[in-house]
Amino acid sequence: MGIDPNFRTSRPVVGDHSGHKVYGPVETPSKLGIHGTIVAVDFDICNADGSCITACPVAVFQWFDTPGHPVSEKKADPVNEQACIFCMACVNVCPVAAIDVKPP
Ligand code: SF4
Repeated sequence: MGIDPNFRTSRPVVGDHSGHKVYGPVETPSKLGIHGTIVAVDFDICNADGSCITACPVAVFQWFDTPGHPVSEKKADPVNEQACIFCMACVNVCPVAAIDVKPP
């Protein structure tokens, strides 16, 4: 199952990270929540495939190390979500449907 498209209303904001919100629950290092609002990555689904990083024309994502996470030990972090041009390339290439993009 991919990222929950209703997370913006169904999950609590539990913090900020690199300029974007983090939606819980978070229990580091095993549960990391969803990072970002405009461009959101479910860190608990992301398997560090990296296709989104390659596909994004405006460099929204950067690797973030997540040692100890059961799915992968690095995640595609939407550090530059404000730059998104809504091409949907990342959504389309993600093999595990971990990304949801929604214009503000
Ligand atoms: S929708 Fe396009 S511009 Fe926005 S983060 Fe994804 S790949 Fe980058």
